[in-house]
Amino acid sequence: MRHPRSGSGAPVSLILAFVFPAIVGAALALAYYGYQYVDDVSRLFEASIREDARGDASDLFRAIEARIDDAAVTLFRQLDLAQEDGPLEAACKADLGPMIESYIVLNAKKASVCVLDKRQRAEWDTYKRTLNWESLRPSEFRHEHRTLDAGSVLIAYSTRQMRDGTKYYVAAKLKLDVIQTDWLDEEIAKLSKTRRVAVIDEHGNTISGSPLGPHGRDDRFLYEDLFGKTLYKWRVRIAPKDVDTLQAKAERKKVFGPLLIILSTVIIAVGLGIVWMAVLSERRASRLKSDFIANVSHELKTPLSLIRMFGELVATGKHKGEGVAREYGGIITRESERLSHLIDNVLDFARLERGKASYDFSQGDMADVLERALDVCRYRVEKDKMKLRTEVDPGLPPVRMDHNAMTLVILNLVDNAIKYAADGGIVDVSLGRTPGGVVIAVRDHGPGIAVDEQLRVFERFYRARSARDRNVRGSGIGLSLVKHIAEAHGGRVTVESPAPGGTATNPGSVFRVFLPAPVHDGAESAARHDAPHLGPTQS
Ligand code: ADP
Repeated sequence: MRHPRSGSGAPVSLILAFVFPAIVGAALALAYYGYQYVDDVSRLFEASIREDARGDASDLFRAIEARIDDAAVTLFRQLDLAQEDGPLEAACKADLGPMIESYIVLNAKKASVCVLDKRQRAEWDTYKRTLNWESLRPSEFRHEHRTLDAGSVLIAYSTRQMRDGTKYYVAAKLKLDVIQTDWLDEEIAKLSKTRRVAVIDEHGNTISGSPLGPHGRDDRFLYEDLFGKTLYKWRVRIAPKDVDTLQAKAERKKVFGPLLIILSTVIIAVGLGIVWMAVLSERRASRLKSDFIANVSHELKTPLSLIRMFGELVATGKHKGEGVAREYGGIITRESERLSHLIDNVLDFARLERGKASYDFSQGDMADVLERALDVCRYRVEKDKMKLRTEVDPGLPPVRMDHNAMTLVILNLVDNAIKYAADGGIVDVSLGRTPGGVVIAVRDHGPGIAVDEQLRVFERFYRARSARDRNVRGSGIGLSLVKHIAEAHGGRVTVESPAPGGTATNPGSVFRVFLPAPVHDGAESAARHDAPHLGPTQS
């Protein structure tokens, strides 16, 4: 029976409609920004390594340039005639030193006054025409890094003035091989603890250090720049020495970060899913509970009104004859039985719900328990014009059970069979042997149970669609009690519908309760896998 509901529905819909999407949205936004953050951190990590390399590179440039400038300044100081009155040729006697290969002195008209190494005169003729003398201020010097077929040259050149103000020009060619083999190697060695350095010439050849990238495993942390303002045709490449460790570290950051984000998002999603399911099941449970209260009240009301009505008839003496009084008494007894059965169910169920169910186990004969339980039902069976057929296997082993609980199981199953089977139908009850125990089977020839509902009927408060549609009275707790009791006895309950022998219109159902019982030698072989065949009508 359905009743209009109110209350818990509204906040639950609110949770489903707003709170859940909001949490999912927040989790996704968090995941997105978290991913971006991890990406930024990994990029910053690479950038900081390249930044360190940039610092090392500029230290290297500074050190080499300082030594080159030093060599040029030493020479130009010797060639300086600003304080002398003598001729320009006086400048031709300078000492070359270890770094200067040759030099040239030009007069104000840029005619050579002297070329130190005569073999290089032709070469100097080219340089003197092409050097950018005019952009220099007096005493300033500059470097020219030039590519030749055979390699490159480094020239330092300067404009000077004699004491009388006459301009003259000097230029020196530096020994690049010394810079390359001695100075660069020395400076690179200073960095070798933590870095790998390569100096690349204008043709892309490594002229100092160890070959490095590009397009190799060093790429990720490789720093590359032009070799300062002096040897500007060359480039320097610097990479950390422990690229593999750094690579692994960066990789770990790149993998673990997103992994952690994905994991947390999945956990949030799963958590939400669980909460969602819990909310839905709580919602369903509360709906079932309110149906249960309505059904139980209805169940109580009907027998009570009948008892009252027939009790009053007997009490006021408004009945005709002894036979009618007996009939009324019978009705009162039957309805009282129904009432006490219902109350037993509700009380046991309440004990179960509170986790307070306790059983009083003792060894007993299941056939006796079955017989006594069926005696209680016989009157109802007759009243409902139904037939009860029973078959009990002889010599069954004793079963460890709670007698009252097992009676409740049988009453519930038979009561259901009477309730749901069509009027005038037959209810078959059997008790037989099964490997390791005994089985009670209750079969009816009623409408059966839809396949998708066969497991659900054992849930508390669940009532099948057909029972609700046909308005069959019930509270939805009987089978959940049967299941609990069977399991507490170490057994189980099953349902099969259509039952064997059912028809298209009355497929019927068979409920089987399996209970363990110690089987003695020899008895096992006689055990059968299922309930015994149903025999002739006994009641
Ligand atoms: P109820 O008080 O509703 O009978 P139960 O827990 O005993 O509660 O049964 C649960 C539901 O299982 C019933 O509402 C009914 O829909 C279905 N059911 C139980 N026994 C039978 C049966 N023998 N035939 C058809 N349906 C049944």
